Order: sequence, then C-alpha cells, then structure tokens
Amino acid sequence: MADQTHAPMSRRSLFKMIGMAAGSAAMYQAMTDLGFAGESGYSGPVNLQGDPKGASVLILGAGLAGLTAALEMSRAGYKVQVLEYQHKAGGRNISIRGGDTVNELGGFTQHCQFDPGFYINPGPMRIPYHHIALLDYCKRLNVVLEPISIINYNAMIHNTKAFGGKAAYLWASTRALATCQRARVRCSAALGGARHERGIESFLIGVCNGRYFGSGMQLAPMALPDDGRFEVISIDAESKLAFPGAMNRLYTGRHVGTPGVAHFSCDAITMQLVDGRARRVFLLDVDGEPLGGLPLEVTLVPGALTMRAPLPPTSF
Ligand SMILES: Cc1cc2nc3c(=O)[nH]c(=O)nc-3n(C[C@H](O)[C@H](O)[C@H](O)COP(=O)(O)OP(=O)(O)OC[C@H]3O[C@@H](n4cnc5c(N)ncnc54)[C@H](O)[C@@H]3O)c2cc1C
Repeated sequence: MADQTHAPMSRRSLFKMIGMAAGSAAMYQAMTDLGFAGESGYSGPVNLQGDPKGASVLILGAGLAGLTAALEMSRAGYKVQVLEYQHKAGGRNISIRGGDTVNELGGFTQHCQFDPGFYINPGPMRIPYHHIALLDYCKRLNVVLEPISIINYNAMIHNTKAFGGKAAYLWASTRALATCQRARVRCSAALGGARHERGIESFLIGVCNGRYFGSGMQLAPMALPDDGRFEVISIDAESKLAFPGAMNRLYTGRHVGTPGVAHFSCDAITMQLVDGRARRVFLLDVDGEPLGGLPLEVTLVPGALTMRAPLPPTSF
C-alpha cells in the first residue's frame, strides 16, 4: 500500500501552501523563481507549420487559450470548431454590467444593478507589462485597453515633501526593490589611460560625479564635481531583504566600505549585461529620467560645464 504520508507534493499544493502562509505576492514570487510565472519568451506571431488539408479540429472551451488556439489553427488552414459550455465566450475573462445575471458557484444568483457605464471584472483585470504575447494579440485584434492606476495621491507617502522628501524616495526605493533583480555586469573602466576590465554582480551601480542625489542620499560621499573623475559605487546584498539595510546607510554615506559595496574611480566606463534576463529590470536612471537600459558608455568631458558656486571661506 502506498505510504500517504510521504506522497510527493504537487506543484499546485506547494504554491497553495505558500499562498496561505505568506500571501499572494509571496506565492507569485515563488512561481516566478521556479519558472512558472516568468517573463514571456514570445518574440512575434506564431507561425504554425504542417499539412492541415482537410483536417478538422474541435477545441473545448472558449477562454483565452481555446480562442487563441482556434485563431492560429484556422489561420494555418484547419477547419476549427469551438465548443463552449457557458452561454458566452471568454472563460474567466468576464465583465459584468447593469442588467447582467450571474450564477455563482454554490447556486446563488446575482442580478447586477449598476448604472449605465459602470462594470466590474470579477476575473482577470490586469495585464502585467511582461505578458508580451497577450499585449501583442490585443494590439493586432484592436482590443481596447484601459490604464489601471493603483497609485493614491491622497496618501501621505506620495507627498514629495513629506519627511523632508525622504518618504517619497523610500517609497520609490521600496517599489524598485520589489521589482529589481541582481544583475551581472561587465565593466571596462579607464583612469588616466589605464584600462581595467571587471565583472560586477549588483542590485545597483552608480556612476557619480557628485556626492548627493535624491533627498540627500550620499551614494558616493567621496565624489567631487571638479576632480576630473567618476566614482563608481556598486551595491550588492546577499538577498533583497538585506538590501534595505544598505539603502538606509546611504543618507550618511556609511555604506562605503561595508560588505557588498564596491567602489572604484574612473574617467570613462562602459557597462553591459552579461546575461539578458535582467534587461527589463536593470534600468538606467539619469537624474530621475528613465533612459532605457544597458549597454552604457560614460565618458568624462573635462571643462565642459562652467560652474558658479560661492568661494570657500577664506581663513584669516
Ligand atoms: C479572480 C481571478 C483573477 C485573475 N486575475 C488575473 C489578472 O489580473 N491578470 C492575469 O493575467 N490573469 C488573471 N487571472 C488568470 C486568468 O483568468 C487565466 O489565466 C486565464 O483566463 C485562463 O484562460 P484559459 O483559456 O486557460 O481558461 P478559462 O478562461 O477558464 O477558459 C476555459 C473555458 O473552457 C470552458 N470549458 C471547460 N470545460 C469545458 C468542456 N468540457 N466543454 C466545453 N467548454 C468547457 C469553460 O466554460 C471556459 O469558458 C485571474 C483569474 C481569476 C479567477
């Protein structure tokens, strides 16, 4: 008789347990880490090959999967029929408007009495930016999309001046932390004509010619705008959970010299990702402007800017 206590656990039960113990965000992260909710590898319309002459196909279910299969197979020349159990197509994708009647699991009947123009999507409502194939189908089939806003500007945290501006930056950093990934970057840096190649594994790399940014963070406390060189700071951490600790020390510059923080100087640097998986999350930010991603080449142009600043106090 099979030993029930040591029966292999299914993926579904594992994810369910993670979801119940730590919430849906942790479950989704686990699915991503295990390769079940990763970024789409879709690179363009599918091109079905074969010899469909005279072949008929019966597809069960008119959800996203069934309708996509039906569309592509009929384009390839198959005779396609779709059988749907419900009274309308769409599967879990459903919008309910005033006047609609919905029979819930369990037998309850709901009569929707929304005013005209109002609706609810009780199933899926968001298309993540990396669902590239779905977005491509929406574009090709002229499906109208609406932006979904999850930001509440009435919340204190979105007041850019709150807590001396730190709250907004900490909030932005926390959001960035949720999506960021450690990336392996190949750097070629030169200083006074001598060039060095190095590999960096990091959550964040700053190429700085000044000390402060944001609300007073000192990413490179040793950086001077007029010394003819950049200070490069890379912040790594064992895990994302350790990263906020390093971020917190940025306000005093105490992060420099701590484990995981690397520093070197240069007057020119090129950087490129070693593996392209971080392409969408390891992005460039130049003084708050999102300017795409790597590869990047930064070169110092001596004397290009004239600076007006008070003279240092003279000593008597
Ligand atoms: C509450 C909720 C929120 C969600 N939110 C999101 C979101 O925000 N973003 C996102 O990307 N995804 C979301 N999803 C997931 C998304 O809805 C599904 O991944 C997607 O709709 C699955 O499509 P499908 O065609 O595989 O299945 P379904 O949409 O379930 O379609 C299956 C169809 O087959 C029919 N059928 C089943 N058996 C038979 C049969 N024997 N004969 C005939 N017909 C049959 C069913 O009636 C149904 O119409 C959400 C899901 C739910 C439930």
